Amino acid sequence: MDVLGLLIGQEEGQASNGATFERRNPISGNVATKAAAATIDDAIAAVDSAAAAFPEWSRSSPRERRAILSKAADILSSKEDAFIEAMAAEIGATAGWAHFNVMLASDMLREAAALTTQITGEVIPSNRPGSLAMAVRQPAGVVLSMAPWNAPVILGVRSLATPLACGNTVVMKTSEICPRTHRLIVDALNEAGLPKGVLNAVSNAPDDAPGIVEALIAQPAVRRVNFTGSTRVGRIIAEISGRYLKPALLELGGKAPLIVLDDADIEAAVAASAFGAFMNQGQICMSTERIVVDEQVADEFVAALAAKAKSLKAGDPTQGNTPLGCVVDTGAAGRIGQLVKDAVSKGAVLAAGGAIDGTVIQATVLDRVTPSMRIYGEESFGPVVTVVRVGSVDEAVRVANDTEYGLSSAVFGRDVNRALSVARRIESGICHVNGPTVHDEAQMPFGGVKASGYGRFGGKAGIAEFTDLRWITVQDGPLHYPI
Ligand code: NAD
Repeated sequence: MDVLGLLIGQEEGQASNGATFERRNPISGNVATKAAAATIDDAIAAVDSAAAAFPEWSRSSPRERRAILSKAADILSSKEDAFIEAMAAEIGATAGWAHFNVMLASDMLREAAALTTQITGEVIPSNRPGSLAMAVRQPAGVVLSMAPWNAPVILGVRSLATPLACGNTVVMKTSEICPRTHRLIVDALNEAGLPKGVLNAVSNAPDDAPGIVEALIAQPAVRRVNFTGSTRVGRIIAEISGRYLKPALLELGGKAPLIVLDDADIEAAVAASAFGAFMNQGQICMSTERIVVDEQVADEFVAALAAKAKSLKAGDPTQGNTPLGCVVDTGAAGRIGQLVKDAVSKGAVLAAGGAIDGTVIQATVLDRVTPSMRIYGEESFGPVVTVVRVGSVDEAVRVANDTEYGLSSAVFGRDVNRALSVARRIESGICHVNGPTVHDEAQMPFGGVKASGYGRFGGKAGIAEFTDLRWITVQDGPLHYPI
């Protein structure tokens, strides 16, 4: 099997010490990808390459950046078959999930292309006669991008599209779980015509991550960090970034609540809950993990959701005959199994699913979940959804907010004004009234509060993250100085 190399200055090369690591297929256990395991010297070389490319790229015209990003969107789409193959092999994704990833990621590249002419500033009235005072946005420098495996094309593209659109250069630290999938993104952008060194890719062995990540953040040329991943690692990234005074955009874990009010359209709420909880086997940061249901409609809702869950079979994604595939590895399957076992041992009612075969977990609904159960608070990141029954709107809001996380959320109710007032009381970055918790569009401000992180990707919010806002003045006429 060929070794997937590092890509530094558009040159493919092996690690300086020749080290490699393997990613195994979650279904077959066979080696899916063998990749170069960068050393710290290699990581620094990638930053040097990005730093050398920065002066010219930061001065490139919007037209030039727009053309490359638009072309990259088309090239990315044309690689869909390669993405389907790589995602099935590395993470056990279904073809449908890979297709959706490529589609939304292409949108993100087109949106980034459009942003190149939206990097505007302002003229601010100055108290000083003759002073033209401007607030001007400029590219920040080298951006370190780190994205996870679960929605690898969407989140990989998201980590670098707006930074590049703003005139920054990038080092992408690819995920150890899907180095080949992430590398296909970098290839698409380079094939679209990015100049040498503007985008570099570094892969690393899992055990080397702490050293490589700290070395990358510490490099003076690195001026922004963005990380999408778990809250556990997000805290580490935040600490390191703080030590080196590097602004970090952190998109971390979630435990999204979906509130079903007493006047909800039950059919619509069930459809949204099943999609939000089980799409990609629940391995989405916005996945519906906690359904908070008004007691008056709870029996009807749980019966309908359990029936829907039983109809969503999970199986080998490469066979393409089941709507759900497998989870990322046996470790994840074991952890999810323990969460279900713990809940059932403490009185949760298993309304659907519960069966685990290797990495294949059937869609699971746990009713009557209480705070004493681990799954009440812990992110499952699997095809398991919990139901908590409540007696009032206030209790629904309290339970929805009874979590350290705050990424996405949803409220179902026919009285839209009432549902909207509930939405406004939920502590989350995102809330959808009468829509699923899983919803992403390139132009929207995406991000969380509380332990789900800080900063926003998407649209103009992303421009603010990846530029420096400078105050620049031009003085017309003489100035009088006091000394
Ligand atoms: P992870 O945090 O386990 O791993 C992410 C990266 O952290 C890896 O690339 C690894 O190299 C690095 N890392 C590991 N240990 C490190 C250390 N000690 N120091 C520095 N770096 C280290 O996350 P994952 O398993 O890849 O992704 C799943 C998580 O991502 C879930 O919690 C999910 O909710 C979250 N997520 C969030 C969003 C969002 O937009 N908010 C989107 C998708 C996934």
